[in-house]
Amino acid sequence: MVLAKKALVTGAAGFLGSHLCRRLIADGYEVTGLDNLFTGTKSNIYDLLGNHRFSFVLHDVTQPFWGQFDEIYNLACPASPIHYQKNPVETIKSSVLGMMNMLDLALKTKARLLHTSTSEVYGDPLVHPQVETYWGNVNTIGIRSCYDEGKRCAETLCADYRREYGVDARMVRIFNTYGPNMHPKDGRVISNFIMQALSNEDITLFGDGSQTRSFQYCDDLVEAFRRYMTLDRDVIDAFVARHGLGAAVINTGNPGEYTIKQLAEETLRQIPESTSKLVYAPLPKDDPKRRKPDITLAKELLGWEPKVPLREGLAKTIEYFRRLA
Ligand code: NAD
Ligand code: UDP
Repeated sequence: MVLAKKALVTGAAGFLGSHLCRRLIADGYEVTGLDNLFTGTKSNIYDLLGNHRFSFVLHDVTQPFWGQFDEIYNLACPASPIHYQKNPVETIKSSVLGMMNMLDLALKTKARLLHTSTSEVYGDPLVHPQVETYWGNVNTIGIRSCYDEGKRCAETLCADYRREYGVDARMVRIFNTYGPNMHPKDGRVISNFIMQALSNEDITLFGDGSQTRSFQYCDDLVEAFRRYMTLDRDVIDAFVARHGLGAAVINTGNPGEYTIKQLAEETLRQIPESTSKLVYAPLPKDDPKRRKPDITLAKELLGWEPKVPLREGLAKTIEYFRRLA
């Protein structure tokens, strides 16, 4: 009998964690989902709770955790600006202490680890589109810093645990990702616009709506996670050396770039019965003006590129939020 591989997913009850757990189970894994339910909700994983290959652990990643796993996926961290800015100290602790605890676990158990970093490590970028070798333009003491700097420090930890202790740590810098299982009050732009349009409330464009983002559908991202984690370590090491990266890090995102106003207009186009109007509100501090991933490295390493265009992913997400209402 072949034993199932064991995976630990931190942040399992969150938007992305719940999709990843489902995918790992479909791929034959035994999955332990860890979460402190800060921004996640058990309703995202209700269907998994009765599955004999899934177990849920209520735990905070800032505390050490022990278990024997083949693969660790580290997702635990609030990701929406309104949430991470409400608890900035907890946010940076989740990133930094959580990362150390997961790297220590990977070190002791020789597990392979995938860490979810973010395009926020580039801050308000001065290089466009963003390539992995760009070091970023980040405020250390602003309202987004708890998230951005926490994630930057987590990357440093992954790089150093790899160099100093040989931990097999791989990182993805995720660009804005959306889809079903986002919390309706999550505060991120796609869930806000859809919820506002469905309830005929004003659609709040921050600033003049000319800032851009690139939106990736969740299934595309989970596919990238899985391809990355199936690669042997020597393949990753050769790739890191070939590209002079210093650590195993790749961007994952959909390079389609849209202004926030275009996103609002497309949302309204897909919810034609809505009577919502576009209104303008002040731009939050340190809000990046442009963002778009260069995914050349992910294409080369993973043979991957996103398949779901914004129009199609938005339709699926709207359908999900309609069912919730
Ligand atoms: P999410 O808020 O839905 O999920 C995060 C999960 O982590 C939640 O279930 C939350 O309860 C849990 N969590 C937070 N702090 C914790 C702690 N200290 N201990 C245990 N659990 C904790 O957000 P998401 O969009 O699913 O993001 C998942 C990961 O991907 C995050 O690390 C985020 O930074 C990263 N990421 C996401 C995006 C995106 O666009 N969705 C972009 C870049 C990076
Ligand atoms: N945004 C907006 N209205 C909203 C929520 C967000 O105009 O109701 C803008 C926000 O200012 C930012 C962009 O949409 O420029 C993406 O915001 P989000 O919080 O989703 O992600 P991030 O800023 O972390 O990329």
